[in-house]
Amino acid sequence: MKQLSYSQMSVYLRCPLQYKLSYVDRLKAPPKHYFSFGSSIHSALEFLYKVKTPKPPSLDEFLKFYETNWEKEGYASPGQEKEYFEFGEEMLTGYYNIHTKDFKLPLSVEYNFNFEINKDVRLRGFIDRIDKLASGGVEVVDYKTEAEPFTTARLESDKQLTLYQIAIEKTLKLPVEKLTLYHMKSLTPFSAGPRTPSQEKEVLDLVVEVAGDINAGKFEPTLNNFCPCDFDRHCHYFRHKYMKEEGTEEGEGKGQPAGQEDMVSLVDDYSRLKEENKKGTTEIESLRGKIIGYMERNNLSRLFGQNYEVTLVQGEKQEWDEEDVKKTLLPAGLLDRVTGIDQSLVAGLLESDDTPPEIRQKLKSLRKLSKGSYQVRYKKIK
Ligand code: SF4
Repeated sequence: MKQLSYSQMSVYLRCPLQYKLSYVDRLKAPPKHYFSFGSSIHSALEFLYKVKTPKPPSLDEFLKFYETNWEKEGYASPGQEKEYFEFGEEMLTGYYNIHTKDFKLPLSVEYNFNFEINKDVRLRGFIDRIDKLASGGVEVVDYKTEAEPFTTARLESDKQLTLYQIAIEKTLKLPVEKLTLYHMKSLTPFSAGPRTPSQEKEVLDLVVEVAGDINAGKFEPTLNNFCPCDFDRHCHYFRHKYMKEEGTEEGEGKGQPAGQEDMVSLVDDYSRLKEENKKGTTEIESLRGKIIGYMERNNLSRLFGQNYEVTLVQGEKQEWDEEDVKKTLLPAGLLDRVTGIDQSLVAGLLESDDTPPEIRQKLKSLRKLSKGSYQVRYKKIK
């Protein structure tokens, strides 16, 4: 039986290889200051609400707890750490002054759930806070320490809140009436009404699909806005950068024609000629052949020169069934971007940063692929 949490699922949707390296191979990522900061704020809020009687701890006790349990890992310098600590202190003081005036005991704090979706998949996680409402229903509150406030679209499509609603309905058997993302920076709650049964089904289907893909060992790297990740040396899009820096060209002595130095200048030469539009010349075709050969032998998909990088894209014929695509894009409001189901526009959605990960995943699962020829795409390194 596969057990998944929301954060594992979102990593998989962003990049299946990153999921594997992180959760299957258990490679350890260096600590990040934003995780430490978020965790320090969450712990302090848990302390504030985890009381047995309606009287909250005093402001002094609250801030003392914050200071004693401050997580220091991942900050770039003592100065940066101090700045964040003081920012958190100010934020928590503001929070305390607003929310302890009418302090009520929550129904649950850091609610730990784990339930079966079907015989193969379980979902687990923690909900920051569940409040009982006068009507008898409950409100889910999830604290967020990210900088930007939330748009209505984000609030209404947030899958984490949908899964929390399902978890409460399944495990506590209580009706969820309000879903809130609490934006700590501005001390503002952003709330939406409960999800509909069809929204719940859509997210549960996605969890089941992701769990199925993980069980089937589908761990292809997927380039995304957050690349390179902490594990990029294990990814065939970024491994060459390390080989280049360390001078450890793999496959040396296996008879490949170009050495490390050669590949770096070869990449630059190829890209420069492409930029000058020398398409089809003997020189460019010869460089292209060497680049492809090297990448194939070393199982790489990207090479780095001094000034350019080239990415190997295996030309694929991608096709979708029109009806499948309509059913997927219409509810997400994306159908107008592929009028008449132009196959190349659908393929463009797969590569577009603003296509939601779950839609990308769905389009990937629906497409029919057949192998084509290689393309070597170049890009200037910034
Ligand atoms: S670098 Fe990017 S594509 Fe490679 S594993 Fe990390 S997230 Fe995935």
